[in-house]
Amino acid sequence: MPFRPRYTGLIERYRSRLPVTDDTKIVSIGEGNTPLIQLNNIPKLLKYKADIYVKYEGLNPTGSFKDRGMTMAVTKAVEDGSSAIICASTGNTSAAAAAYAARAGIKAFVLIPDGKIAMGKLAQALMHGAIVIQIKGNFDDGMALVKQVSKEAPVTIVNSINPFRLQGQKTASFEIIEELGCAPDYHCIPVGNAGNISAHWMGYDEYYSDGIVKSRPVMVGYQASGAAPFLRGHMVDDPETIATAIRIGHPQSWDMAWKLQKESGGWFDECSDDEILAAQKLLTEKEGIFCEPASAISVAGLMRDINSGKIPEGSKIVCTLTGHGLKDPDTAIKQSSTPLITVDAALDAVKLAILDKI
Ligand SMILES: *Cc1c(COP(=O)(O)O)cnc(C)c1O
Repeated sequence: MPFRPRYTGLIERYRSRLPVTDDTKIVSIGEGNTPLIQLNNIPKLLKYKADIYVKYEGLNPTGSFKDRGMTMAVTKAVEDGSSAIICASTGNTSAAAAAYAARAGIKAFVLIPDGKIAMGKLAQALMHGAIVIQIKGNFDDGMALVKQVSKEAPVTIVNSINPFRLQGQKTASFEIIEELGCAPDYHCIPVGNAGNISAHWMGYDEYYSDGIVKSRPVMVGYQASGAAPFLRGHMVDDPETIATAIRIGHPQSWDMAWKLQKESGGWFDECSDDEILAAQKLLTEKEGIFCEPASAISVAGLMRDINSGKIPEGSKIVCTLTGHGLKDPDTAIKQSSTPLITVDAALDAVKLAILDKI
């Protein structure tokens, strides 16, 4: 039998490009190495001749890209002697922090907006044994509190203001380049705090600066209309959207994101909640890919920019699908139009139900 070494996570794979030493004890759950899936049916529907790929980050261990950053943040926190981490979260950061803290045997404190977090994410944080503090406020309130608390208590912040987070997340760009053999022309990505778009740019820029690729992609960041500070040009105080993962009005990586937008020749745009849900459904029904609402905005925005001609035919495009659809079953079931059929447990009844639909 041919031997293939066991994949043991992104720090091991990209050791030389990350701030670790030979002595660093790595905290990993096998994150990274996610599939880059080419869309087959959506481009046909759009009558669009180009290569569209989705980077399915929902297939990370806790179901979102946050694991890429968390393996680095927790590895470094432990290396620096910390025994507790803290974060504010719209859900996925808390799930990742809880899991990696469990793996490392340290404590995780997570602040989440009361009632505005998807059920799957809450279940994860609780099951992994994090101390979950619901605040009567939104993510931005939580973030401000976490910054203050970390000055007064021995806890390490693992939000994306922790620079190790972006170091871990930049590896998604390395994987994309290695699989495509080049950088894509456009990279479309959801924007909340703008940490991930910044991390992707760092990754692309690193391979470009080292001469591994000859170009960098145009970076396109999409925000939900009710939570779109990059479109308004200023912070937003009461962000609202069904895409709870990007329900953020005060992005922490504001300056970095504007800088990369200019450097990459990219832009920001916004999508309505209806457009987001329509794209989520299209991906599940036409491609078999189930992502959460916040993730689907990258495809919702892309479709609009394709239709308007902003992104020309013949382009090579990557969309990041940031989190798994199972994270938010409530939103999914509520918007599903597929009827649920109930019949007697009898052959006749089942046969009739099937023949009726063929
Ligand atoms: C965190 C998150 C985002 C936003 O990423 P930022 O780095 O905050 O811009 C988007 N989608 C999902 C599913 C997330 O969990």
